[in-house]
Amino acid sequence: MESQKQFKRRFSFEFFPPKTDQGKEKLQTVRNKLAEVDPDFFSVTFGAGGSTRDRTIETVLNLHRQGISTAPHLSCVGGTRQEIGELLDVYKENGINRIVALRGDMPSGMGAAGEMRYANELVEFIREHSGDTFNLEVAAYPEFHPQARSAEDDLQNFARKVKAGANSAITQYFFNADSYFYFIDRLEKMDVTIPVVPGIMPIINFSNLVRFSDMCGAEIPRWIRKQLEAYGDDSDSIRKFGEEVVTDMCEKLLKAGAPGLHFYTLNQAEPSLSIWKNLGVSEREKISF
Ligand SMILES: Cc1cc2nc3c(=O)[nH]c(=O)nc-3n(C[C@H](O)[C@H](O)[C@H](O)COP(=O)(O)OP(=O)(O)OC[C@H]3O[C@@H](n4cnc5c(N)ncnc54)[C@H](O)[C@@H]3O)c2cc1C
Repeated sequence: MESQKQFKRRFSFEFFPPKTDQGKEKLQTVRNKLAEVDPDFFSVTFGAGGSTRDRTIETVLNLHRQGISTAPHLSCVGGTRQEIGELLDVYKENGINRIVALRGDMPSGMGAAGEMRYANELVEFIREHSGDTFNLEVAAYPEFHPQARSAEDDLQNFARKVKAGANSAITQYFFNADSYFYFIDRLEKMDVTIPVVPGIMPIINFSNLVRFSDMCGAEIPRWIRKQLEAYGDDSDSIRKFGEEVVTDMCEKLLKAGAPGLHFYTLNQAEPSLSIWKNLGVSEREKISF
């Protein structure tokens, strides 16, 4: 973990772009609550194949204007260089300085894969098109990406994204800190030493978590799954147990030197805030764990 200890810690919250007016109002309330703890930035996801393009732009610019730096996610599957270039120009004109650059996944039934096949090509394109305007974040997979041919291949892919110009990374969520430590160790052996910030998924709803984890290849350890299962419909107990388990893991990650945390909020303030408060991030001035 030595490579990670040198970086200043940063804390961020991720949202998805709301579809309805009611969703927008709710996100505004969530934003206000999370803004109180003064995170380093917010980020906003980009729907598969560009399906949320306009809503992502609108949400990003709206949040960014309110004073906390906001980073759009941008995926390349299904998009052309021209379309992506235009989007980059919009962000640049509006003072956006960070982008989460991804390959993304094509939704089933949607056409061609686009002009870029993998995230390293997108990173390369953004550097070509926009120089150093943006701080580029890429995705990292401590439990390895589900489509990777092997663990080694996935690590090589990550290294390719760094070589193409990524400044830092955010991980897929995980519930086993050792997978993250091992991943960092493997990167260090390859001399890949950018900040890799753990992505943190608060546990809110068991069936959604299982469905989503199966899709994205995140493992729910058996002891957590069994305990959550045992709570059945008792959502208070699920949240309480989830909060405890995830707080403990975050504490372990930060103590070991993780360069911050990125919360997948699912557009809800309380689950991420409770973990944040348990950790005492603000009181400890974000740096002195
Ligand atoms: C922090 C974070 C944020 C995310 N935000 C979004 C979002 O907003 N919208 C969204 O749709 N999805 C999002 N995702 C999900 C992501 O789009 C998917 O996980 C997607 O399947 C992979 O994207 P990637 O950028 O990691 O792809 P890549 O880094 O391109 O990797 C994809 C797969 O291809 C393999 N690979 C890469 N290069 C090669 C090569 N040259 N030859 C063969 N195999 C190769 C890799 O090993 C991996 O298995 C996010 C994921 C994370 C971790």
